Amino acid sequence: MKLIENWFSERYSDNLQLSFRVSDQLLSIKTDYQRIDLFDTYDFGKLLAIDGTVQLTERDEYIYHELITMVPYHLTQKAPESALIIGGGDGGAARRLLDLGLRRIVNVEIDDQVVEVSKRFFPNLSSAFSDSRVKLLIQDGIKYVKNTEEKFDLIIIDSTDPEGPAEGLFSKEFYADTKRIMNQGAVLVSQSGSPFYQPKAIKLAYSGMKEVFNDVRVYTGFIPTYPSGFWSFTVASPWTMKPRPVSISGKYFNAEVMDGSFKLPQFVKDLIT
Ligand code: SAM
Repeated sequence: MKLIENWFSERYSDNLQLSFRVSDQLLSIKTDYQRIDLFDTYDFGKLLAIDGTVQLTERDEYIYHELITMVPYHLTQKAPESALIIGGGDGGAARRLLDLGLRRIVNVEIDDQVVEVSKRFFPNLSSAFSDSRVKLLIQDGIKYVKNTEEKFDLIIIDSTDPEGPAEGLFSKEFYADTKRIMNQGAVLVSQSGSPFYQPKAIKLAYSGMKEVFNDVRVYTGFIPTYPSGFWSFTVASPWTMKPRPVSISGKYFNAEVMDGSFKLPQFVKDLIT
């Protein structure tokens, strides 16, 4: 990617972009699936972008990764022991699940280059892949879910936005396949984009899950480096989800976030009704 006077910009619309001043461009490669860029930024440390969109930065990755793991962790019927992560090639979601005490994690990432880049530049996250409790598979998550005989307590869709290889991860057919591989009391969560700039993602996730699951809910959080900062996650289960008591906190997550993140502004409610 070519930088203009050392600024990396993610375009949100034809008329708006967020720009990071960059001290170093560490890598720019085209893989079989996407373009991967790695920058060192002044304010957010190392930044990973895929096809020009920010995936994570050193400084605020904890918010996204705590929200996508710690919230659904507290919604399963009993403390989860096994999890499937689709996407998540940086290792951040697996890292948090290990810290939560899970015993068996299968992480299915389509692009081995994302894993390689994370091993080089985000060792704190990618260290999860050398833990014996984590099995990393490089393949399409959609095919994996269709064919596997394994079952899980927690399924986490830590994917790119619903375009290219991730498009099918937001479909009703895919959600129906995930239901087949859920243990009693299991929960599925998917990142579902910015309600303000990407209403399509949240609508797709919510309406697709609604056709398949009994209980579907949306929660939100503040992730400064994602479009508008205001981000959504959609969580679902074939069983009614009853939050288990929260006795732990992260750097962002705590008992109040567990409750408050499900309180939605009216414009978000309007997107999913
Ligand atoms: N935190 C991020 C965000 O929301 O911006 C997502 C991070 S993670 C790097 C997303 C990963 O999903 C990418 O590495 C991409 O290769 C992977 N991915 C996309 N489609 C996939 C599929 N069908 N199966 C498995 N992994 C997929």
